[in-house]
Amino acid sequence: MKKNSLPGMCIGLLVGCSGLTVVQADDCSAIRAQYQCQDDARYPLHLSFDDGPALQTPELVQVLQREHIPATFFVLAGKVDCERILTEQCLPRSPTSDGSDCEAYQQCRQRRDVLADTRKAGFEIGSHSYLHLHYTQVPPEQARADFVRARQLLEPYLTTSPPLFRLPFGDGWFNHKENNGQVLKMLEQTGFTHIDWQFSAFDWNTDNQQGDKILSNVLEQVCQRRQGGVVLFHDGVPEQMNEGRLFTIRNMARWIPAMRCVVDFKPLSFFVKNLAEK
Ligand SMILES: [Zn+2]
Repeated sequence: MKKNSLPGMCIGLLVGCSGLTVVQADDCSAIRAQYQCQDDARYPLHLSFDDGPALQTPELVQVLQREHIPATFFVLAGKVDCERILTEQCLPRSPTSDGSDCEAYQQCRQRRDVLADTRKAGFEIGSHSYLHLHYTQVPPEQARADFVRARQLLEPYLTTSPPLFRLPFGDGWFNHKENNGQVLKMLEQTGFTHIDWQFSAFDWNTDNQQGDKILSNVLEQVCQRRQGGVVLFHDGVPEQMNEGRLFTIRNMARWIPAMRCVVDFKPLSFFVKNLAEK
């Protein structure tokens, strides 16, 4: 790897371009050949991360910040509902306890801090629901209640107007037809903009969590289709409150130089128009 200063390649999203340093792979032609990219084009790509916040998310945030890569985090409101955790998991509790003696509550406060810090670092934050269900398959009133509840909890952290939402399990399009788009309509009614992904890193699959399989998944899809879009990664695990997708978090810095050979990292606003920052 080598470090290249790219003052002449400043693009709109980068603040203070002078002195910008990015890491690029030594030999991009080898990377293109390895991932069967047909030409020298660099395709626009936006990184998105679902299922957090996790206690290790800050490691990923630091890497993205250092590399000046914009990203969106779709977070689970249930992971930052600390008042509920205090009520349900911190028993028995004296009426005067502030929760400082309850580990589950303290960890929830840490996850909230992670979320606040991620927002402060300039990343977009969207809702990924409260319970991480197949919302195309649950009663409409249950889905609506979850969306509203998630919005109330996440309101201090959401970054855009209208706020962003991503349905779990790819339900934004996998089950869209069966559901006649009802869930997407409901999201619109509850004031959200649904954000799809066009590429998946398949990093949730443990079979892929070795070597560069996840990097290959992304670059092969981009190069085959010869177009950019939003790619789905994960920084969290739905069923684990604290521990994140460690393989993704710990390898992202290694994958970025190879990705830069093929993609041009863009903010979400490159793909989704009419979003105002809150
Ligand atoms: Zn998810």
